[in-house]
Amino acid sequence: NGIQVAIDGPASAGKSTVAKLVAKRFKYVYCDTGAMYRVVTLAALEKGIAPDDTDQISRLAQQISISFAPGDPEQQVFLDGREVTTAIRQAEIDQNVSAVAAIPAVRREMTNQQRTIASQGGIVMDGRDIGTTVLPDAPVKIFMVATAYERARRRYVENKAKGIATASLADLQKEIELRDQKDSSRKVSPLVQAPDAVRLDTTDLTIDQVVDRISVIIKK
Ligand code: C5P
Repeated sequence: NGIQVAIDGPASAGKSTVAKLVAKRFKYVYCDTGAMYRVVTLAALEKGIAPDDTDQISRLAQQISISFAPGDPEQQVFLDGREVTTAIRQAEIDQNVSAVAAIPAVRREMTNQQRTIASQGGIVMDGRDIGTTVLPDAPVKIFMVATAYERARRRYVENKAKGIATASLADLQKEIELRDQKDSSRKVSPLVQAPDAVRLDTTDLTIDQVVDRISVIIKK
């Protein structure tokens, strides 16, 4: 019971914050697919594998176990049973994740795992290619955008609140724009709005307003 809700968009557009709240409101499962690519990246860095060593990273993506557990306020993320919730938010992961996520075999593995998670019933899944590739038949697709400055500002505030070492606002904006550019230009499942997705510019909206708008679309 419940439907599939796909939420895509560029980095730090507020997707996960909103997706979590929507999932809570409808009692759906929430799945942060970006966290999965981040876990693969962390595993590679820990093993000293270069982000451009596609063969080794492809194998690694198939070998490791990625899991989630509900947590308050944050969902917990595990790599082979070890909690890595905060570790995957480090700047080093931000800088390397797009290269890892561009590897076709990594995407194939993550997409399979994501479809398995989504087959359980009501789900809110956020990422870059959920509406286009992972769940192309999802009845609700949202493409969330905001200006790069606003997205950097939100990330800055979030990093501070979480106690994550943060770059300056200007450097964060550069990192976000560079990552979007990499994610939009890769060959397999690039970041692009699905033709049937509803575009939501959240620059001047509060979190509650965005959650309300998506809730209205789900209830239709
Ligand atoms: O959403 P988040 O910023 O945590 O995603 C981190 C990275 O994971 C993105 O920049 C992108 O390279 C990759 N990603 C992806 N496909 C998804 C979700 C994330 O390629 N569905």
